Amino acid sequence: MDAQLARLLNSSNHDEETEKQLWKVLTAYDATREFSERVLRDAPHYRPPGVLGRKRRQKGGFQLMPGFPQPVEEDEFVCPQGNDYTWYRDEVGEVIPQCPVHHCVLVQA
Ligand SMILES: [Zn+2]
Repeated sequence: MDAQLARLLNSSNHDEETEKQLWKVLTAYDATREFSERVLRDAPHYRPPGVLGRKRRQKGGFQLMPGFPQPVEEDEFVCPQGNDYTWYRDEVGEVIPQCPVHHCVLVQA
């Protein structure tokens, strides 16, 4: 399924047909369908549900001590070559991964 998604996302013609196919792939399984619906409900940010969950917990009234590494809000990294991969860092110092398609280090958006 990953390869199928990558192919659709990288195809040069982002027309209605591509979107329909993409939606079909994403909704083919219960888990990914729920994931996709949650991402779409997060418009216009379209953040993965894991990111939202972490942010909600951070708003729970728990305060970090001054000088303690702070959680990073909206720290977004993208693939510099194809803008095909987005990753969210939620802690300073977390290792920035590589784009799974281009195998290059992601850059801050
Ligand atoms: Zn890439």
